[in-house]
Amino acid sequence: MTLQLTTSVKYLKGVGPKRAEALARLGIRSVGDLLYHAPHRYLDATSVTPLAQAHVGKEVTCIGRVASTGVLPTRKGLRVFRAVLRDDGGGAGGVLECAWPGQPFLERQIKKGQLLLVTGPVRYYHGRQLVPREFVILADEGDAGPERGLVLPVYPATEGLTHRQIRGLIHQHLDALLALVHDPHPDTLREAVGLPDLRTALAAVHRPVAATDAEGGRRRLAFDELFDQQLVHARARALAKRSRAGIRFALRKELTTRLKEHLPFELTGDQRHAIREIADDMTAPLRMHRLLMGDVGTGKTVVALFAMLLAVENEYQAVIMAPTELLAEQHLATLTRLLAPLELKPDLLIGRLSAAEKAAARERIATGASRVIIGTHALIQESVKFRRLGLAVIDEQHRFGVEQRAALVEKGDAPDVLLLTATPIPRSLALTWYGDLDVTELRERPPGRGLVKTALRTEAARQKIYEFIRTECAAGRQAYVLYPVIDESEKADLRAATVMASRIAKVFPELVIGLVHGRLKPEERDAAMRAFRDNAVHILVATSVIEVGIDVANATVMLIEHAERFGLAQLHQLRGRVGRGAAASHCILLSDVPEAAPRLEAFAQTTDGFKIAELDLAERGMGELTGARQSGGVPLRYANFATDLPLLEAARRAAAQIIARDPALARAEHAAYRERIVQRYERGFELFRVG
Ligand code: ADP
Ligand code: MG
Repeated sequence: MTLQLTTSVKYLKGVGPKRAEALARLGIRSVGDLLYHAPHRYLDATSVTPLAQAHVGKEVTCIGRVASTGVLPTRKGLRVFRAVLRDDGGGAGGVLECAWPGQPFLERQIKKGQLLLVTGPVRYYHGRQLVPREFVILADEGDAGPERGLVLPVYPATEGLTHRQIRGLIHQHLDALLALVHDPHPDTLREAVGLPDLRTALAAVHRPVAATDAEGGRRRLAFDELFDQQLVHARARALAKRSRAGIRFALRKELTTRLKEHLPFELTGDQRHAIREIADDMTAPLRMHRLLMGDVGTGKTVVALFAMLLAVENEYQAVIMAPTELLAEQHLATLTRLLAPLELKPDLLIGRLSAAEKAAARERIATGASRVIIGTHALIQESVKFRRLGLAVIDEQHRFGVEQRAALVEKGDAPDVLLLTATPIPRSLALTWYGDLDVTELRERPPGRGLVKTALRTEAARQKIYEFIRTECAAGRQAYVLYPVIDESEKADLRAATVMASRIAKVFPELVIGLVHGRLKPEERDAAMRAFRDNAVHILVATSVIEVGIDVANATVMLIEHAERFGLAQLHQLRGRVGRGAAASHCILLSDVPEAAPRLEAFAQTTDGFKIAELDLAERGMGELTGARQSGGVPLRYANFATDLPLLEAARRAAAQIIARDPALARAEHAAYRERIVQRYERGFELFRVG
């Protein structure tokens, strides 16, 4: 049988049924999968610390021969595997003990006489002791001496198949597999982006001579996966445009003009610009599919309202869906106020209404009596029928699933769609990531808002901070005290928040203290938030669940405990809860972790959400910020958004050019692209069906 990349991995020498099963758990079915199973880490043994110089408190990589092993119980009943290493230095200095707490089974793997590479921190425990995060058995007794100058790949492994076994397997077959690889890219593209050819890249990833080789190889694989993804996006966008005949609204300048005349404030320049872009979309024959990004408080609602009125003055209905009842109620209050001079009454449909009220609202929506509609998930139930939906606005769009957004949109006949988000991401990324969305930004804040001052403080300042909160509350204002909860299902974290609430209650006996956390039922949480909104509660102790869009203008202090535990984007969201009224507001970050100070300082110095998004991106990559890693349909394995933005941009440009020339990848020179996408993307075949 001739080997092909699609050949099942079970035909490889060294792979029996058991191993094939273990490999399948890692997603490796064909030999090609094995070739693309990239190391997630490398052990750089090019700079090895002699055992004698492995000092307490340092992170080291050492190589030594196993002199003795043993399993010892500790006091807590935890069994610890230990191995004493010795290196060529000999004598007392060239000896170091390694300890693996809770891993007595290593006794079966690590044997006297083996040459072992270990990497990890050195601690003091009856002497110097290295606690390996990683180890590699380099060679058994009798083999050659220490292999220096090695960068060892560490592979994602699974039960019954160690990374060492995977490494062995890959190395055994690497040359045969590399021979099967053909580079789908023309040299011109590779040279333009500065990428190695595919074979070189894969060899470098699996068999690097230096750490920089491995990185060069990874970049190439990252480019390829981003490129595939961008081909899919570009194609999806092109198809969507073709089938995107929408409603062509006319600029009647009736309700919209009257709203402008009656607005209690001046629109900001950004708002005016956004309204113009949206009006252009809505009056064009194509369906609008636009994302409006703007920090909390930049005034997205009023922009959405203009769009809604444009639909309404064209005899259509317009709806805005919010993720919580509280937000929906807030929209109702805002819209009722703004629409009063126009003699237009918005309608509300949320779960909390009585059955009779809901039925009545549904009836008004079905008959077309309501024209401006506000609601929650209740809107997407079967029983809700619109008479003539022209525009669907989805607030805090990332809090809805794709199907939920689609369900609302499908209530109409190809209505225009406007998505709102208060989680800004850098524009370059938004354009690349939300390939099929147009993007509008609101950066400018409405004037007349009090500034939010951000300060970084340590525990030593706690009493002073409390006194400050007391003064603010005595002046009739309100405060939030935020407590980080890593996992809302964690009892311990929840307890911490509860303890914090009773501590605050003791400190402020004259004030009413509220508490919200993720374990509360949505109704309970809404009730607590409502009490705070209505100023019946003065200090709200909360975990990070507190509502993103909630607007309590009277709250002027936000104290964030353990600020170092939050991501910057999250801190920014939290800070956005204050500074909504005219009074000056304060965001106080409490942190006693000196290492966190620089990033928290950087955060304190800017209020620009887009800048913070960039800082946040640099800090931890794109994945968590937008759920980007999942939303592309295929998870990214090699690309790292924190560092690969230029690569993403290059991939997007290259993909767009190709799709423009050859939309279905039907040409022979693109066959390899097409094949890879059809293999990897569920929708690949459907998207690139020729003809
Ligand atoms: P977000 O973008 O966070 O959704 P909102 O739309 O809730 O912000 O607006 C926040 C507040 O700012 C609301 O009370 C709104 O009426 C007010 N607002 C919006 N635009 C302006 C403006 N141009 N000038 C003054 N206030 C404004
Ligand atoms: Mg909002």
